[in-house]
Amino acid sequence: MSFYFVIMTVKINFMEVEDPGVAVITGASSGIGESFARILAGQGFDLVITARRKNRLEALAAELKEKEGINIEIITGDLSKPEFMDEVADYIEKIENLDVLVNNAGFSTLEQFISKNSKVDPFMTMLNLHCGAVVRLMHAALKPMRNNDRGVIFNISSMASLILHGSREPMYHSTKAFVSAFTEMVQLKLNFVKSKVKVKSICPGNTHTEIFGPAAIATPGKFGGPMTPEEVVDISLDSYKNKDTIVITGDHNIDEVMEWREVAYNKSGRYFSKNWIKTGLYKPL
Ligand code: NAP
Repeated sequence: MSFYFVIMTVKINFMEVEDPGVAVITGASSGIGESFARILAGQGFDLVITARRKNRLEALAAELKEKEGINIEIITGDLSKPEFMDEVADYIEKIENLDVLVNNAGFSTLEQFISKNSKVDPFMTMLNLHCGAVVRLMHAALKPMRNNDRGVIFNISSMASLILHGSREPMYHSTKAFVSAFTEMVQLKLNFVKSKVKVKSICPGNTHTEIFGPAAIATPGKFGGPMTPEEVVDISLDSYKNKDTIVITGDHNIDEVMEWREVAYNKSGRYFSKNWIKTGLYKPL
């Protein structure tokens, strides 16, 4: 009598489910979004990937289909435009087994908002992409996720969302602050209705990607870094197991946020002026 041993290869995924569904990733043509695509494909999720650079998405899709044997759809377009937000949102709403949305598309700018010579266009594009698209796609994704009472939305914010002073670019920091605040408020609502759906605001620090151009090299900061996109993705996926909504990726980035916060709270005029009675807003009874 002979025995046949059938060895089944079960892919372990971060949600620890037997039937990983679909993951939608914006800004998947490079950096953190591309890493999410590679890692989630390796865990057996089918993908929908979007960005403007079609050639990059096609090359990535061909590689991952071949290597991981998953299904991948590509939707190409500019996510700062309301029409494209609607197109992607309509697509997302129809994905019955949607498990993951990664709102990752974003950019930084060297333009100065307060410069007398600056044009408003890059700032409006940033506002639309970082805030408008995130809201539009979250709204769409929550429909199938709430139907299934399962799934997670990773909004790629930034540690900039927690550092709101200094010589930084106001629009980048403020749009990311919106992402973190909105994510936290949505999670509180989900908790209130006892939903199992999770939303996370991922707050990376300096990460080696193409954000400052394909040839730019990220350098270490005062507290450490830079991180690789893969490290950011690993920490993000790991956070699915815990209740953290605001996820700062890396201890050195937590240290930096804490230092800035300490300065901010102690600086008069930042939150409450130390001499606030003298401002005239306070009327003694
Ligand atoms: P990246 O390599 O430049 O990737 C940005 C992605 O966003 C690309 O796939 C890009 O694709 C897409 N994108 C940009 N503008 C778009 C638009 N108008 N419409 C559609 N897609 C658009 O940079 P990254 O660092 O990975 O950035 C990913 C996210 O991480 C961003 O939200 C960024 O703010 C955040 N982040 C980065 C760092 C860092 O140090 N790298 C730190 C904190 C937070 P196409 O150009 O092909 O459209």
